[in-house]
Amino acid sequence: MPGYPFEHKEFWLDPPLQVSTNHIQENNINNTPEIITTQLSSAMPQRKERIITEIPEILEEASGIELEGADRDAGFVELGLDSLFLTQIALTLTKKYNTKVTFRQLNEDLSSLNTLSTYLDQQLPAEKVVASPPPVSSRPTTSSPQQQAPSVVPMGNMNAGDGNLQWLITQQLQVMQQQLQMMSGQAPMPFATPSSFPNTAPNASTPNQQSETPFVSAEEENELKKPFGAVARIEKSNNGQFTIDQQKWLSAFIDAYNARTKKSKEYTQEHRAHLADPRVVTGFKPHLKEVTYQPVVNRSLGSKIWDIDGNEYLDVLNGFGSNMFGHNPPFIVEALQDQLQKGYELGPQHELAGEVAKMICELTNYDRAGFCNTGSEAVLGAIRIARTVTGRSTIICFNGSYHGINDEVILRGTKKLKSIPAAAGIMPEAVQNMLVLDYGTPEALAIIKERAHEIAAVLVEPVQSRRADFHPKEFLQAVRKITSEAGSLLIFDEVITGFRTLPGGAQQFFNVKADLGTYGKVVGGGMPIGVIAGKREYMDALDGGHWQYGDKSVPEIGVTYFAGTFVRHPFALAAAKAVLLRMKEKGQALQDSLTNNTTRLAQEINKYCEQLKTSFHIVHFGSLFKPKYDADMHNIDLLFLILRHKGIHIYDGFPCFLTEAHTQEDIDTIIHKFKEALLEIVELGFIPGDTNGQKVNGKSSIANPKFNANNPPIPGAMIGKIQTEVQIGSFPILLDQANI
Ligand code: PMP
Repeated sequence: MPGYPFEHKEFWLDPPLQVSTNHIQENNINNTPEIITTQLSSAMPQRKERIITEIPEILEEASGIELEGADRDAGFVELGLDSLFLTQIALTLTKKYNTKVTFRQLNEDLSSLNTLSTYLDQQLPAEKVVASPPPVSSRPTTSSPQQQAPSVVPMGNMNAGDGNLQWLITQQLQVMQQQLQMMSGQAPMPFATPSSFPNTAPNASTPNQQSETPFVSAEEENELKKPFGAVARIEKSNNGQFTIDQQKWLSAFIDAYNARTKKSKEYTQEHRAHLADPRVVTGFKPHLKEVTYQPVVNRSLGSKIWDIDGNEYLDVLNGFGSNMFGHNPPFIVEALQDQLQKGYELGPQHELAGEVAKMICELTNYDRAGFCNTGSEAVLGAIRIARTVTGRSTIICFNGSYHGINDEVILRGTKKLKSIPAAAGIMPEAVQNMLVLDYGTPEALAIIKERAHEIAAVLVEPVQSRRADFHPKEFLQAVRKITSEAGSLLIFDEVITGFRTLPGGAQQFFNVKADLGTYGKVVGGGMPIGVIAGKREYMDALDGGHWQYGDKSVPEIGVTYFAGTFVRHPFALAAAKAVLLRMKEKGQALQDSLTNNTTRLAQEINKYCEQLKTSFHIVHFGSLFKPKYDADMHNIDLLFLILRHKGIHIYDGFPCFLTEAHTQEDIDTIIHKFKEALLEIVELGFIPGDTNGQKVNGKSSIANPKFNANNPPIPGAMIGKIQTEVQIGSFPILLDQANI
């Protein structure tokens, strides 16, 4: 028996009104003429009454403020509904009654339940029927995750046909299944709440889908296991399978690497206890444990950085793309020093804010721009604006794109169009309004077309940083057309592509005007910054839009919430101003020169990769380049370690960037080091390829492969213990004579 009491409640229908009409009732549950005539009347007092009981429901759902029994003549603001809620409510009412209700009206003429319901009643066509809403507690909820996933649903509040009843039964079955799984020692499956059901149609999933389809198939589970974005990659059980020669090389390499970066290693160990840092552990594999640490740096200039052991590195990571001009370029340093002298006050409006916003608009060809501190915040704000102005919830994004650290964008899509969180701690509910498609495919386009009217925005990383050679121009143009026609927004996440190939970013490159663009990285000149720029009608959702002093104008547009303590930080503004002035001054020549250098680097490395017959290669876009390799290259991490050991600052999995500070000589050095490192790991057999007889350092670098210490030529012969320094790959090491 259920472990909760039945609650007996009676619900009475209103008595029929005897007003004659020929109209047909929408919610006709009983075709008797009396009922039809009752419900279909255009008797306004009756309909207005229904509207007035319905509206508090809508207001409650949007605000969470209980309005049952509220004074019908009290102003909404008096009832505790502030402008944020009223913006949302205006959209909901417009959608629900198919009658325009604006934020401004809710503040003025329609600011009470009475005035609003009278207005709606007058606006609705005479034949439009508004059904009596069932009592609050008896309705299945569909809005917030908390409402969708109650831990206990009072049984007495349910009807047999109610979706909640099915859901409750499904929950109970799952609890029992989990208990059985736990008793048999298996890990339990995640709980399926209505909102964690596969969302082939966001907000449209039913409990039944859960029982028909497993939560994730084995194939999908495999795909989901791949690390997402910059998540810390830790493999605790991969010990690698190496030949004796490879083991010798590895051991020599680890010694040499540790000797060169001794202080960095000590520093990392010393501070592990109190410094929690995912980046320090990423790349962990048992056989690489001793080299799993980053160079700890304390100095940089131009294209170079120096670690605390005094080693010099040519930097190709360059602040993950935030550095376009090299380290400490004098024009940014001067701007920062100047700002430091003046102060870095937070809170008051800063004199640089307007000027910087104007320059961003000029370069990006947008009307308005707003600031935040990171690219992630910019993406969050853009999504929020899209939902505010459209009143829709679904955001389309794409597999393989990266949009920062907000819960909603750390997800993967499965082939069955389920959205699954891609990191621990992100609840399935958090991604239920996201729909992830494959980027640039006709299938994706068809789905966008089909569902265009429920989409708040299509969010694209126009050139995915991990797939820099994929430039789906026609796809983007088609998405632009569909979204424009359907009243959905197109958001270009230009946090990396912005200002990179062209001053106008990917929009200029693809000749596609998005409604909103998100920016960061480069434009901050090394200071933390995020920017949302866009068309006036959308950006106005941040501040209510244009108004002026001295007349009756007011901020007309309903606003959403977007703020932050460090927004418009004077250092970020000062550095951004310096960067934007530099960009304006140099024009497109700046981007062209960076693109040419990066193209040369990629082409030369790729030519060499072809010679080595390895699938490793470089893809590039503007000043971004990204190493790519087949998924089965399990030892590719060695390439990045060797490169670091050879003085190139690079990490596996991250896009690389050239800056204005990289000279032709620097680029030659990077190419040369890549070639050396590739040859070495191909020659040692760590990755598939063919050295074509080339040798590291011009001579065979591997210990005699024919020698087998376990099989001496004369039974019982002892292995000599005299040590000799030998060259293993490019690293000298002391080996027992007998092992040579
Ligand atoms: N969008 C894109 C395309 C990005 O590449 C990134 C960061 N790499 C972000 C958003 C998030 O930016 P941030 O790290 O500044 O939050």
